[in-house]
Amino acid sequence: MNTKVKKNRTWIWVSLGLIALIIVVWILAVKMEGRKPELLTEMKSASIGKTHTMTIIVSDAKSGIRKVWVGLIKDGKENTITIKNYPSAGFIGGGLIKTESVEISIDTQALSLTDGKAMFRFAVWDYSWRKWGKGNQTYLEKAVLIDTKSPEIDVLSRSHNVNQGGSGLAIYKLSEDCPVSGVVVDENFYPGHSGYFKDDSIYISFFALNHQQGPSSKLRLKAVDFAGNTGLAGFPNHINKRSFRRDNLNISDGFLNVTLPKFSGQIDLDGNEPIDSFLEVNRHMRTANAEHIFKVTESTQTQMHWKGAFQRLPNAASRAQFADHRSYLYKGKTVDKQVHLGVDLASLAQSPVPAANNGVVSFADILGIYGKSVILDHGFGLFSMYAHLSTIKVEVGQAVGIGDVIGKTGKTGLAGGDHLHYSMIIHNTFVNPLEWWDPNWINNNITQKLNAIGSE
Ligand SMILES: [Zn+2]
Repeated sequence: MNTKVKKNRTWIWVSLGLIALIIVVWILAVKMEGRKPELLTEMKSASIGKTHTMTIIVSDAKSGIRKVWVGLIKDGKENTITIKNYPSAGFIGGGLIKTESVEISIDTQALSLTDGKAMFRFAVWDYSWRKWGKGNQTYLEKAVLIDTKSPEIDVLSRSHNVNQGGSGLAIYKLSEDCPVSGVVVDENFYPGHSGYFKDDSIYISFFALNHQQGPSSKLRLKAVDFAGNTGLAGFPNHINKRSFRRDNLNISDGFLNVTLPKFSGQIDLDGNEPIDSFLEVNRHMRTANAEHIFKVTESTQTQMHWKGAFQRLPNAASRAQFADHRSYLYKGKTVDKQVHLGVDLASLAQSPVPAANNGVVSFADILGIYGKSVILDHGFGLFSMYAHLSTIKVEVGQAVGIGDVIGKTGKTGLAGGDHLHYSMIIHNTFVNPLEWWDPNWINNNITQKLNAIGSE
């Protein structure tokens, strides 16, 4: 053998050795990677009802996902809920799917599962060659409670005499802890809260009929438990029809000249006729402001801050009533119609405005058509609102007592003259303040009902 052939052979062996080394390194580092797949479960609650859906997200950035398995263990028996195999790009290619969200739905009745404690098991494997080719596995267990029973609602308050545009109170006891419960008036939901009575299975819900909801309105109590089971209960009620006043408001050019500049920066005043700018404010800004108010009144304290009749602005004449149906006339023509959802009270200009009852300030700022405004949370979804103020003397979060001065009357926002626009709100509905100013109404419809439960 000459040296040339020897050298060539050596070169071949070295090359083969290098290739083998690269393959071994590739197998060890890539095909036998040891990183476990990731598994994320999104469970809304630890209880599941008759049917339950959930999403799990699995991912494996290196080898891709091979298999997902979900089981539910109840009374020692394993029930397979989901089993999914994922494709690979051939023997050496690895998994095609790197991340996947898996929808899981369980029908506990179809599986003949009884109520009680159970356990979810989740497993996911990747396309790594580890574990003799089975892949890396991630495994997870989660305890759950199977609950297919609807919550029971025991209505404790007996009479519910409610006026159109007025307020009501329902008191009820729930058979189990529920994250959501309250009174449903047609489509509108008024959340109830525990915390008033020592027994925290007793809830109270202030509810309302808006100015359009008369005797045909349907009132029910509703409770939804952590597993999503819904319980409904009717309760005795009597709804009194109320009719409201009609009122014409003449919009003069003088009024527009004085009022519209207050809204510069919020609407385009230059490109529009003054009356069109007014309509923009009276319609769209009014709607947007109401939405803002109900964002504020969505959260409430579960403490009954108030006591006794609400106080009216002293020495003041009522200029407009709750739910006055207003027609806006411009140059003799009706240009708009709106419903006035508060009471207008006029006294001397810049009169001090007392808090109508004990509460906590939940809003103190400028708000569109309402101008400088204050909203007080009296607890359990009951609020009072003070608008068109010239000055605000309180801050959000501050506790105020009945009669404390919260500001001074004025004509900020959409107001022609100095007055207080006073509103009362239950959760997301303006209600007639007259009831809350009346000690007899409060006694008959609120206080006696609460006391009747307390003495039981
Ligand atoms: Zn008003």
